[in-house]
Amino acid sequence: MSNIAQEAARRRTFAIISHPDAGKTTLTEKLLLFGGAIQLAGTVKGRKSTRHATSDWMAMEQQRGISVTSSVMQFPYKDRIVNLLDTPGHEDFSEDTYRTLTAVDSAMMVIDVAKGVEARTIKLMEVCRLRTTPIFTFINKLDREGREPIELMDEVEEVLGIRCAPVTWPIGMGRRFKGVYHLLEDTVHLYQPGKGSTRQDVTEIPGLDNPELDAVLGSQAAELRDEIELVKGASNEFDVAAYLRGELTPVFFGSAINNFGVQELLDYFVEYAPAPQPHVTDARVVEPEEEKFSGFVFKIQANMDPQHRDRIAFLRVCSGRYTRNMKMRQVRIGRDVQVANAMTFMAAERGQVEEAYPGDIIGLHNHGTIRIGDTFTQGEELKFTGIPNFAPELFRRAVLRDPMRMKALQKGLDQLCEEGATQLFRPLRNNDLILGAVGVLQFEVVAQRLRDEYKVECAFEPISVATARWVACEDDKLMQKFRDKAYENLALDQSDELVYIAPTRVNLQMAQERFPEVEFHATREH
Ligand code: GDP
Repeated sequence: MSNIAQEAARRRTFAIISHPDAGKTTLTEKLLLFGGAIQLAGTVKGRKSTRHATSDWMAMEQQRGISVTSSVMQFPYKDRIVNLLDTPGHEDFSEDTYRTLTAVDSAMMVIDVAKGVEARTIKLMEVCRLRTTPIFTFINKLDREGREPIELMDEVEEVLGIRCAPVTWPIGMGRRFKGVYHLLEDTVHLYQPGKGSTRQDVTEIPGLDNPELDAVLGSQAAELRDEIELVKGASNEFDVAAYLRGELTPVFFGSAINNFGVQELLDYFVEYAPAPQPHVTDARVVEPEEEKFSGFVFKIQANMDPQHRDRIAFLRVCSGRYTRNMKMRQVRIGRDVQVANAMTFMAAERGQVEEAYPGDIIGLHNHGTIRIGDTFTQGEELKFTGIPNFAPELFRRAVLRDPMRMKALQKGLDQLCEEGATQLFRPLRNNDLILGAVGVLQFEVVAQRLRDEYKVECAFEPISVATARWVACEDDKLMQKFRDKAYENLALDQSDELVYIAPTRVNLQMAQERFPEVEFHATREH
């Protein structure tokens, strides 16, 4: 095997998907702990401070208790390199999440034992299904009372349409929570509350028939034996091929906050989760072990570090090797750039990368030339596909308090819109700056960031735009005619693509009927 193939084979690049509050952040911390990224001491107690240390959360989300930004964390575990891509939990930021899910090879789903499958879990699963992303499942908070495990698995199977294969099984829950039984290893792992435990500190009792179990579990031992017999008869076995096809999910139980059941999850995850997968482009399929480097940008984040005013483009390496100072072609603009100082996301610090392999994420410094969806190669003309930009649902006009700050406002909006969560439209007929978003909260975020990061006071006021469509037409003449006729409702997006901004849905429908030769698109493929 080539060095590139070997390095690719040991990468595991994934995201955690869950409904807010299910325990994604807590689980992330514990996973980082196993990767040696954060120290054991202070982790359990100093939850708030580890939050700051390991990710770039903003002041605003701390106030609101939601994840606004997402980031990348890389850590070694056993002989693997794990890349964990954080996704924002709040639904106003779902586009960002969708695009992050295009950059992973698998996902881990966290479910709250008391709440079961929730709205956001369902949505995220739909996205995973689009690309048949394999899913591991962690059922969390077994230290609390929750629903019957069998009932939960039925719910996952029915609502999410994926078969469940329990790998660990809980012994009681809430006050009676005693640990988990590992169905594939035939061992009981005992739970000790309040101990941020690694698997090494957990007492393991081999064999379900072991009399030691009766001594420690009392009457729960017999209950467990009965239940396991039932579970074995009624549930699926862990079938790796079915998992990789996205048809079956291995299920683990535990308590993230007590760091229990997490290592069992991680051990199986690094073993069975897929290594970097081939990626589709407009020209051909790119295999990870190819010698030549390629990758695509799935996310851009402005001002990650307020001190440095940097804008980072997150690039997922799809093939080959990145080395420092290498030349890459930015295919969209046909330009070769020398990349000296890409960033890595190893553990808690952001340092410079010397090398990166398929599955890794590197951060490129962006000076306004990089866009979400951009492909970088070592010269080949190809474009990775499937990274969507959705038509926003809400539109507001930027109103500046101090007219002298117009330049700063334009710059701020341009830069913040590069991130892709909001989109900027400039009508052809006037100088308005119209911001489009999928959720109301985004306007607040942008206003606050304009204030903090660009020193611009700006409000967003409602305007009569109901929806937007990217327009295209094969025939240049007809397009010109459409441009003239529909001038009042046309705008340019950030990439100077033509967009029809409709005051009402009815108006849109009428325009579509009037100009049947023009295509109206609800998403723009980057
Ligand atoms: P996120 O919104 O999915 O990132 O969830 P968090 O990790 O922030 O967790 C939400 C809440 O659930 C927090 O108050 C956590 O302390 C709590 N929590 C997380 N894991 C557990 C667990 O295993 N048991 C209990 N009892 N609470 C937990």
